[in-house]
Amino acid sequence: MTRRASALARVLVLLTVPSACSDAVVVDRGKVEIDPPAVYGVWWSEVEDCSGIGGDFDGVRWFAVYGFADGSGILGQWNERREITVRSDVWLDRDVVRHEVLHDLLRGDRLHQRSEWTTCGIDTGVDTG
Ligand SMILES: [Zn+2]
Repeated sequence: MTRRASALARVLVLLTVPSACSDAVVVDRGKVEIDPPAVYGVWWSEVEDCSGIGGDFDGVRWFAVYGFADGSGILGQWNERREITVRSDVWLDRDVVRHEVLHDLLRGDRLHQRSEWTTCGIDTGVDTG
């Protein structure tokens, strides 16, 4: 197991431990860089195909996080440093990952105004940008 995968495993273990307190501070907890699983490459290709936009899969850094600091309930996030972060309870959710992939192919489009969201049938409600 790689160090990154091991770190993710620790996050996933934490997820299975019942919380001892109800007022835990919500920050970007347990953020770890991960090696993208093979299925991410499959989903990446799907979004390239439906959008007609080629991208650079290897140029993205992927992270999993236990919870985002803003507490908004978002599931994923893309930024201009080409980092994609997904919440660890949905890190293998096709809709969430494909959404962030399209942000990368579009190099943004925070407000989801481009036609590719519809063309690809990608839910625009999973994040805040
Ligand atoms: Zn979005």
